[in-house]
Amino acid sequence: MDYDVVIVGAGPAGAASARGLINEGLKVLIVERKKLPRYKICSGIIFKEAQDITEKYFGEIPESVYVTPKLLKGVRFWADNENFTDWSFQKERNGAPNVWRSAYDYWLIENSGAEVKDCCSLKGFYDYGDYLRVECTDGAHGKTIHITSKYLISAEGCKSTIRALLEPSFEKGLKWFIAYQNYYEGNSDLDPYFYHGFLEPHYGEVYAWYSTKDGLQVFGTAVRKGSKIYPCLQRYSEMLKERFGLKSGRLVRKVSCLGNDMCSTGNFYLGKGNVLLVGEAAGFLHAFGEGISCALSTGLLAAEAIHKSITAGGSALDFYSKLTAVERRQTKVSWRLGSKIAGRDLMPQ
Ligand SMILES: Cc1cc2nc3c(=O)[nH]c(=O)nc-3n(C[C@H](O)[C@H](O)[C@H](O)COP(=O)(O)OP(=O)(O)OC[C@H]3O[C@@H](n4cnc5c(N)ncnc54)[C@H](O)[C@@H]3O)c2cc1C
Repeated sequence: MDYDVVIVGAGPAGAASARGLINEGLKVLIVERKKLPRYKICSGIIFKEAQDITEKYFGEIPESVYVTPKLLKGVRFWADNENFTDWSFQKERNGAPNVWRSAYDYWLIENSGAEVKDCCSLKGFYDYGDYLRVECTDGAHGKTIHITSKYLISAEGCKSTIRALLEPSFEKGLKWFIAYQNYYEGNSDLDPYFYHGFLEPHYGEVYAWYSTKDGLQVFGTAVRKGSKIYPCLQRYSEMLKERFGLKSGRLVRKVSCLGNDMCSTGNFYLGKGNVLLVGEAAGFLHAFGEGISCALSTGLLAAEAIHKSITAGGSALDFYSKLTAVERRQTKVSWRLGSKIAGRDLMPQ
């Protein structure tokens, strides 16, 4: 066997899985399809639980990872253009770290202790019962390589090739959402020490958001796949200009991504045989798109489950299923709370 565990995906779920497995003395490879450090669409706010796990397993977040403003005071939820409620980040900490995900994720990966292969994309795998043979496309020339391991972890984010291969019918039943995010030079009257959420559905069926990072105005919105996102974004941008004096200069980046409804419906997929799914691949994402904490925690739980299976015998998937019971419950509770705050379903079917 080449490795005890192959992890696919170098986000926080992959890094935490690796850290946990390395702590147990296992031989681990992370494969990542992009060149590292890779860009990740995100607001880059490290909520308290994510901060706690990061410090415990990886150490203090280095200065190089932060942006300006460094620590955010809270989330400001706007019920309409005039009325808001603040949720403080400062009850137990000085504030929530505001980071670039490329830098934070890369730092996690470098500190995971695992061997890492970037520009390497998983294409398929064969399960021979007592071992797995993973097929990847490696490097710029797309050479096919094979790696053998006892366990495989999908930390691929919401679009998981492994999940689609394991359970095509499950995949077919998923509902998808699309998110857009713009990065403009410029300024506005919105308090840069807050992450702002605009809850009125005409700015986005999920919600619309705004934050400041290194002088860039980062804002976006999300709707059901198939709905028209452009009119929502247009209305939202106009409102930011008229009500909050948004002056947008040069457009630095414009990105989009998909998300699915596994999290909001509680339709988690934890794996099959010796293949486990962690983070967003398994459906772990809290309301309003907070996903770093559950990516880290489920990565560590998968590592614990694999270690238990090796040392005590029994199925890693059974252990993982038991270990994630609390995390699954918390995810469902977070979406119920999110809907209560928004006064509506945040991921309408
Ligand atoms: C607009 C937006 C804003 C957000 N803001 C926040 C925030 O402020 N705070 C927060 O906590 N959460 C936020 N989130 C959620 C957070 O980004 C995710 O929940 C989190 O990144 C999930 O981590 P992960 O490790 O599961 O997956 P990811 O971080 O998505 O990592 C998956 C990795 O797997 C790689 N990969 C995928 N398929 C393959 C393959 N076949 N072969 C090899 N590699 C593969 C990908 O390239 C990627 O690097 C936000 C999300 C969005 C969309």
